[in-house]
Amino acid sequence: MFAPWVEVLVDVPGTTEVFTYQAIAGVTPGDVVQVPFGSRTLAGIVFGWVSELPKELTAAQVKPITAIIHTKLFPSDYWPLLQQVAGYYQTSLVNVLRLALPPGVFRRSQNRVTLTATPPPSTLSVKAQKLWDILSAGTRDYSRRYLEQKVPGCSTALRELSQLSVITSYCYFPGSPQAQYRQLVTLCTGDKTELTPAQKRVVEVLEHQGGELWHHDLQKQVKTSAITLQKLEKLGVITLQKRQWLRREMQGVTPDQPRCLTTDQQVAVTKILEAVASRQYTEILLHGITGSGKTEVYLQVIAFILAQKKQALVLIPEIGLTPQLTERFRARFGSQVWVYHSGLSEGERYDTWRAVWQGEAGVVIGTRSAVFAPLPHLGLILLDEEHDASFKQSQMAPCYHARTVAQWRAQALHCPIIFGSATPSAETWHALAESRGYISLPERIPPRPLPPIRLVDMRVELVKKNFSLFSQYVQQKIVQLQDKSQQAILFVPRRGHSTFVSCRACGYVLPCPRCEVSLTYHQAEVAQEPLLYCHYCNWRQLQPQRCPACDSSFLKHFGCGTQRVVQELQRLWPQLRVLRYDRDSTSGKGAHREIMQEFQSGAADVLVGTQMLTKGLDLPKVTLVVVLAADGLLHLGDYRAQERAAQTLLQVAGRAGRGDQPGEVIIQTYSGEHPVLDAVCCYAYNALMTQELRQRQELGYPPWGRLVLLRLSGLDENLVAQTAQKLAIQLQSEHWECIGPAPAFIPRLANRYRWQLLLKNTDDSPWPDLRWLHRRCPQGVQLLIDVDPVEL
Ligand code: ADP
Ligand code: ZN
Ligand code: ZN
Repeated sequence: MFAPWVEVLVDVPGTTEVFTYQAIAGVTPGDVVQVPFGSRTLAGIVFGWVSELPKELTAAQVKPITAIIHTKLFPSDYWPLLQQVAGYYQTSLVNVLRLALPPGVFRRSQNRVTLTATPPPSTLSVKAQKLWDILSAGTRDYSRRYLEQKVPGCSTALRELSQLSVITSYCYFPGSPQAQYRQLVTLCTGDKTELTPAQKRVVEVLEHQGGELWHHDLQKQVKTSAITLQKLEKLGVITLQKRQWLRREMQGVTPDQPRCLTTDQQVAVTKILEAVASRQYTEILLHGITGSGKTEVYLQVIAFILAQKKQALVLIPEIGLTPQLTERFRARFGSQVWVYHSGLSEGERYDTWRAVWQGEAGVVIGTRSAVFAPLPHLGLILLDEEHDASFKQSQMAPCYHARTVAQWRAQALHCPIIFGSATPSAETWHALAESRGYISLPERIPPRPLPPIRLVDMRVELVKKNFSLFSQYVQQKIVQLQDKSQQAILFVPRRGHSTFVSCRACGYVLPCPRCEVSLTYHQAEVAQEPLLYCHYCNWRQLQPQRCPACDSSFLKHFGCGTQRVVQELQRLWPQLRVLRYDRDSTSGKGAHREIMQEFQSGAADVLVGTQMLTKGLDLPKVTLVVVLAADGLLHLGDYRAQERAAQTLLQVAGRAGRGDQPGEVIIQTYSGEHPVLDAVCCYAYNALMTQELRQRQELGYPPWGRLVLLRLSGLDENLVAQTAQKLAIQLQSEHWECIGPAPAFIPRLANRYRWQLLLKNTDDSPWPDLRWLHRRCPQGVQLLIDVDPVEL
């Protein structure tokens, strides 16, 4: 079909609107083009064909595209993928593009300014002088936004410098020529028999590093003069070339060699390589406890992919928490590894994206959004810790799950996808545990028993008149730490400020009578009684004075923060050295690493932390792991609470006894007979999943039923609540159940009131397009459509 017009997303700040232009020969959706826009010429992306003009436009008013800048900007599977994401997650293609592309491509505010002349002009205005000072120091190339921050209101001053021809501005865009060039040293076949010692050293370093190094990296390892290098080039031993250099975050690592695989690992590698060879879409679950050698399997499989001149995409939950993994990939594959995540600087992110897009990256490691890394020769996708909830976006559109998008990508490319985890998600378990794609690595390397897990019933402590946060057993263990120079982790499970209500005497937890999830306690406004509610269906009730099950008066809301735990430790044992590890104490850049290094160096005996402790830490001196109250996990008022509790508990347990000395795990709880705790204590993950899936089936929760969560928010509480109620009425249907509306789990965030509405589909049929709901929301109420929600 040829239609004369196309829709173009023009590169103007914050726009979500597409404009219509006249097509020119050869243009296709996904192309980057130049278009007239007002008095300017701007870049934009062609979205699609238009067969009919909008009513307000006549054909004569529609301007033609000026030029095609990039055709085939994306690999051929890529544009359809973006469209699929927009469709399935019920948002606009613009939103998906903003996510997939690095900043700078679609924001004019990311325009950059470069200094082009050195001698400072003789007279400058005050602001222009300030700009000059900034520009002439450092990299001489800054984003306009940065300059604006440093020198507010600097546009006149920029124009002044521009008229003096000392700066140029450019639009930051893929393929733009604003790259940096550096010297690349490559080893050649020339005769190496009669070299001087200095020359030999250069050759040795190059040989050791795969035959190619940037000059500045070479200099770090061996001091050489320019003359030495030139002589080597004359001898035909090396070549020196100026090459485009892309900014990237890269630290030196010591190269490392493949290990000789264990039998289990060998089986895993063989199976995965068979899948690679079949050139078909294959899902593989690599179920291996922490320390069972999964990473080594990944590395060896990827070595094979690289040898075939293909590329691998590795998705991990959080870069900051898993520096060890990234370092191991770099140690094995060197500069072929590119890291892509939101913690990079803008320049790094932009250049990394471009390097990946140009095909320079053999391996891309990244967090959630890296699932959109535009690798042109992708041959394998891998999700490590695939159960992790951070793979799902829940805050802004598109609310995509990186696991699902990765599956679509692998399907389109006919390549395997590997899900690695010690505690696979219920979805993955359901799909793969009994399939040919299931691979298990059941033993640690070297073989070492898993630490025993002991339950301590806090109700008994109460009877013994121990009202402390720590059971007597835990107290004994903590006292012994310093003598043995061992370390402990105290894990405080907690999510937000919400909490549930339970009886400390008998463990009874107040449930919603309609939804079978725990009721949530909310701190009362002044002079009001505390209220309990279900954030699925909005059931509300006052908190009873006494326990409905045993009539004790110890019915309390639950939970205490890390801060309280630290205070309590210091009160009991003033000489104990304690470190805190949670969102608050690690908010600065690099703070994770610093606290971890401090703890690893032995500067503290005890590390008190939250959920972040569960991820990828290898701390050999930790022999004791204490979960202060498992109840905080078990009763999270969410249908996934039990799955997540089991995963979290097993992941923290995995932190104990990783060194030479055996470890021990203690779980304190008020619900000692809970089936999840039973299963966790004997590491019975398989049995637990079977049980969990059966329950989900009965209640029609995923992976059986499907869910869509409509998240509404706004500054006016009444308006948000009313809108939620109106939508609930409009959404009545025989095809699904409409649950709620109810206040969200976190009912107020950053001054915005939050309500939600859950749609539950009991069969597997796809959702109709719900985007029309946006038009039913009044001004001041924002709607976020969350398909397959993970955080409810
Ligand atoms: P996981 O990723 O499952 O936690 P790793 O791959 O990190 O496991 O392996 C755990 C430890 O065992 C690491 O220190 C790793 O270097 C080592 N290791 C893994 N495979 C082997 C092997 N085949 N031979 C010797 N050591 C190994
Ligand atoms: Zn009770
Ligand atoms: Zn309910």
